[in-house]
Formats: sequence, C-alpha cells, structure tokens
Amino acid sequence: MSTDIQATASCHCGAVQLEFTMASGLDSMRRCDCSLCRRIKPAAVTARVGELEVTSGEELLSLYQFNTMVAKHYFCSKCGTHTHHQRRSNPNEFGINVGCLHDADPRLAGEAKWSDGINHPSDR
Ligand SMILES: [Zn+2]
Repeated sequence: MSTDIQATASCHCGAVQLEFTMASGLDSMRRCDCSLCRRIKPAAVTARVGELEVTSGEELLSLYQFNTMVAKHYFCSKCGTHTHHQRRSNPNEFGINVGCLHDADPRLAGEAKWSDGINHPSDR
C-alpha cells in the first residue's frame, strides 16, 4: 500500500508550477486511450481537489473542454504543455501529467495501467 507523496510539477517553459499531494504515490498512475489523452499525455497521477495548488502561472492556463464538457483540461498558453485536468470519471480528482513531474522518471509511464477512455466509465 503506497502512501501519499508531496510532489511538484511544471509546464515546459516553467511559467506554470504545481504543488500537490500525489494520492497513493505513483500507484495512482494511469494511461488513458480517450481521443484527447492518446494525443497529449503519456500517463497521469492523481491529486484530490483541494490538495493541488497552482503556485505560479494560473493566469496563463488555458482551459479545453469537449464532449460532455465535464472534464477540464488545462494547458500552458505559452508553451502548450498539458499540465493537469479535473477528471470526468471523478470530478473530485485531478490527473497530473506524469511528463510534468519533477523528480520522476518519465519512462515509468510505460508501466502505467490503462484506463478505458474509449468506453468511458461515465458513459456506461
Ligand atoms: Zn509553459
């Protein structure tokens, strides 16, 4: 059983900085095959809403929504990096792009379990 870990992340240009509690550490890491995630994100870890703070660059975040308009996908408007999203499957959680994490090997994303985003749990 993994414990929560304090973590930081940023976009490519560094304007957007995140601090959050990674719920269950890297055990929460998942890949998703939905039409958006397959294009933008190698994998995501989890933070509960209220346990993620945008410590820098909040005014630079651009919001993208599609389909049911429930999930909120945030991008740095300077460098285009997808940093995090508020989940449709659980709006009480954020998914943070594993590629944005400080102090984590991006190759770990290859070991992430897959979520079925094509047949999304909220559509069943
Ligand atoms: Zn940026």
